[in-house]
Amino acid sequence: MNVDFSAVGLKVGLECHQQLATREKLFCACKPDLFKGEPEITFLRRLRPTQSELGQTDPATFFEFQKGVKILYEADSGTSCLVEMDEEPPHELNREALETALVTALMMDVKPVDEVHVMRKVVIDGSNTTGFQRTCVVGLDGAITVDGKKIPIQHVSLEEDAARKTGAEGLTVRYRIDRLCVPLIEVTTGPVIYTPEEAENVALAVGRILRATRKVKRGLGTIRQDLNVSIRDGALIEIKGVQELELIALVVRLEVQRQLKILEIRDELKKRGLKQDNFSEDFVDVTSAFTKTGCRIIQKALGKGKRVFAVKLPKFAGLLGTELVPNLRLGTEIADRARFWGRVGGILHTDELPSYGATDDEIHKLRQTLNAEQHDAVVLVADTEENAVDALRAAVERAREALKGVPEETRAANPDGTTRYMRPRPGAARMYPETDVPPIGITGDYIKQLRSRLPEPPEKMVQRLVKNYGLNDKLSRQIQDSEYLNLFEEIARKTGVSSTFIAVAFTETFKALKRDGVEVGKVSDDQLMEVFQLVDAGKTPKEVVPNIISWLAQHEGSVPSEAVKALGLSMISEQELARIIDDIVSKNEEAVRERGADAFGFLMGLVMREYRGKVQSEQVSRALKEKLPKKK
Ligand SMILES: [Zn+2]
Repeated sequence: MNVDFSAVGLKVGLECHQQLATREKLFCACKPDLFKGEPEITFLRRLRPTQSELGQTDPATFFEFQKGVKILYEADSGTSCLVEMDEEPPHELNREALETALVTALMMDVKPVDEVHVMRKVVIDGSNTTGFQRTCVVGLDGAITVDGKKIPIQHVSLEEDAARKTGAEGLTVRYRIDRLCVPLIEVTTGPVIYTPEEAENVALAVGRILRATRKVKRGLGTIRQDLNVSIRDGALIEIKGVQELELIALVVRLEVQRQLKILEIRDELKKRGLKQDNFSEDFVDVTSAFTKTGCRIIQKALGKGKRVFAVKLPKFAGLLGTELVPNLRLGTEIADRARFWGRVGGILHTDELPSYGATDDEIHKLRQTLNAEQHDAVVLVADTEENAVDALRAAVERAREALKGVPEETRAANPDGTTRYMRPRPGAARMYPETDVPPIGITGDYIKQLRSRLPEPPEKMVQRLVKNYGLNDKLSRQIQDSEYLNLFEEIARKTGVSSTFIAVAFTETFKALKRDGVEVGKVSDDQLMEVFQLVDAGKTPKEVVPNIISWLAQHEGSVPSEAVKALGLSMISEQELARIIDDIVSKNEEAVRERGADAFGFLMGLVMREYRGKVQSEQVSRALKEKLPKKK
């Protein structure tokens, strides 16, 4: 879909969240790391918003509370303590994290606050054991320049990350509290970004400044972008958790398209003469129409003793199947709502019933029961009566909104750039002071001191990478934008391996490996350092670095020399190489006699085809040339 973004009035604001690689967490001495495997400790809590908070919490969370949702927390003693469990008050604010946030603020021309006050922001979805998230503003009102345009930075804050959701079974949601209390910097831009590409470039520029502090974590999930996207006549949509920078432009573009399509549907509904009072909440038990159905979804539900309920959506025929963006139809949006509010598996609707195995007879009977005319659609849910009614009520609600336009929502980003319904947009977050953590004064002297030793700004850094390591401009940018800048510099300093080769490995090679599904993030800094040390020592040829990394990613906890051995990648000795070349030359005597020095390419190819990864090509070339007649 071709869109003139200025004509539709696109506005984007970013909230960039970056985890910090501090020694300790934000309010305790635990390591800010995630644990793998089974939890040592689990404990169950019920969502329990206190009386004073009820008025302010968003309806979605209150709804979950009413449903009796329980949270099962998982922990281990290495990554959490009584603070994360909310059994002990928070300790003092982590000074290392605070300093990193202040440095970030200063690099963005943001004015530091005189006193840092930790606040509690109400969050009762269970992602915080306390029922709130601790956050503090460290600076306000700054700006960065991106492609010659001034982008205002509204504020830089320091906050604790939330626990991570690891699953849900029935009414029990599982969260792992290792991530809880990991320091996060939040950078918020003004909503002055007008194209999808600009959004990506601003995020890139913010990311460069954050990484310039050299105190940030790397890997999937360590940087998360929230995007506030709106178009004229549409709605302000908050999209949470874009983890890949390269997705930002796509997410924005798809969101604009989604909103434009929803507006088209609104216009079509108006054209069909739909009015708000045409909707009704008559939820009808239509089980009898499907007793012998071939529709598997319904069959299965009926087999479990569930029933089928339906509601009419007037004048919606054909529109539920309308694709908004790839893999997302209006029907999907309605289903998302139904799932959320009704805790059902999904919905069925008349636009798609035939392809799910329902017969014309069944559909006819269904339409008749609901008095549905040709222009009307019918939505069905097969579940318990309580869930089905909740789901259908949510479906009608979403359909009503379709007549008004784009509903304001918080949505979550999917890995393919599309988004899904998360919850209604909450009102302004309720904040109150965290009395357990004393405020910290920020003196002018301290700021002056920080200013005098600010990290190298990103622009200067690129120039230095070119100058010190002989990288070209493009590669310098790439390594700066990669998450491996620090490690690149360390390896380039400590080994004699070509800087360009190391930089290419961390950028192009890693990208290619990721595309092939290799989880390169699983390979640690120490392992990577060792790989290059092996290359440096001539124990393995550099051509096989990708194979070694890919093997290490699949064999967590092993050492690179094992990879070399397992892959049979150790080098062939000089004597052995000499023997191999003698052998090849004598086997191809005729070619050598006929073509002389010109047989080189052919023989080189034979050796490399057989022994690639076990010999350095320069070595083969040298040895081979010695055996062949000299060029005339
Ligand atoms: Zn702790």
